[in-house]
Amino acid sequence: MAFFSKDIGIDLGTANTLIYVKGKGIVLREPSVVAITRYNKEVHAVGYDAKEMVGKTPDNIIAVKPLKDGVISDYKMTYEMIRRFLQKVLKSGAFTKPRVVACVPSGVTEVERRAVEEAVIQSGAKEVYVVEESMAAAVGANMNVADPLGNMVLDIGGGTSEAAVISLGAIVTAKSVRVAGNAFDEAITNFIKKKHNLLIGERTAEEIKIGIGSVYKVEEESTMEVRGRDCLTGLPRNIVVTSEEIREALMEPIEVVIDAIKVTLENTPPELSADIVIQGITLTGGGAYLRGLDKLIAERTLLPVKIAEDALECVAKGAGILLEGIDTLRILQTDRKNRINRW
Ligand code: ADP
Ligand code: MG
Repeated sequence: MAFFSKDIGIDLGTANTLIYVKGKGIVLREPSVVAITRYNKEVHAVGYDAKEMVGKTPDNIIAVKPLKDGVISDYKMTYEMIRRFLQKVLKSGAFTKPRVVACVPSGVTEVERRAVEEAVIQSGAKEVYVVEESMAAAVGANMNVADPLGNMVLDIGGGTSEAAVISLGAIVTAKSVRVAGNAFDEAITNFIKKKHNLLIGERTAEEIKIGIGSVYKVEEESTMEVRGRDCLTGLPRNIVVTSEEIREALMEPIEVVIDAIKVTLENTPPELSADIVIQGITLTGGGAYLRGLDKLIAERTLLPVKIAEDALECVAKGAGILLEGIDTLRILQTDRKNRINRW
């Protein structure tokens, strides 16, 4: 068997971690969750296994999301998670140490970036390049990032929404807000509590969002039956929620995302703005699938908006593409310089 090096791209998302192996594509797609013992923080599982354990084991085992708000809220757990995911992927056939492109939210600090580098190296990588996820998302969405043309990408994940204008392989201007999928779920939870006196769980809120959530008037409104705990009696109760209600609940956090787009557009040099009028905005990340979001953004910005193909996988795919060739390194370096200048 020939010797080969597995070059690897990691999308370290607040909700999901994806790993891309050169020549194979995306080989791992798991929730960014670690299950630990409450008292001594011993790690029991990561990813799906960790998510599964929660609620089914004695409650001294808890789930932590090490990248909770788009930043690394727990270094040690981030490290444990990356290490275990990489081990899973590398367990067969890796004869030489891999080169790794790791994507992190644009909002991370220099210290956090180094923590990710460290975790990846400790997990057995030969080299690691840390790239901002907006750049990877744009590359993975097949946008022509190396062209001297302004391109705008909006990535809506679990913890952060990031708007960025990219030209000549670098991020020209970007704005990251800590309002994304999780905040949409919370808005639904709060709305139902206030309006129906019913407490619902995190997962239920997400199911409602994905099931009937929308942010623009849809042709056919729908309803969904949900179960929760009555705030007053403490007893389980079912209610029916409508898509209109959920739209109302989502408006507040959605406005924050729209503001982020507007700020980014305001900070874009005029020549590039002119390009964006033609190129439009590309949506990536799980939030891109929120019904009507493309229409709402188009209406508010008067720009063409499109949802990237395989929006949930753009960052990982972009990381994979960035692994190839010289162009890649140039982009990486420009990106890094750019980032250092900004902080
Ligand atoms: P991250 O990069 O932060 O890990 P992802 O890009 O993986 O995040 O997106 C995860 C978020 O996308 C979650 O909040 C999830 O609820 C949301 N999401 C996934 N599918 C949909 C959908 N069809 N409609 C609305 N939101 C969705
Ligand atoms: Mg992401």
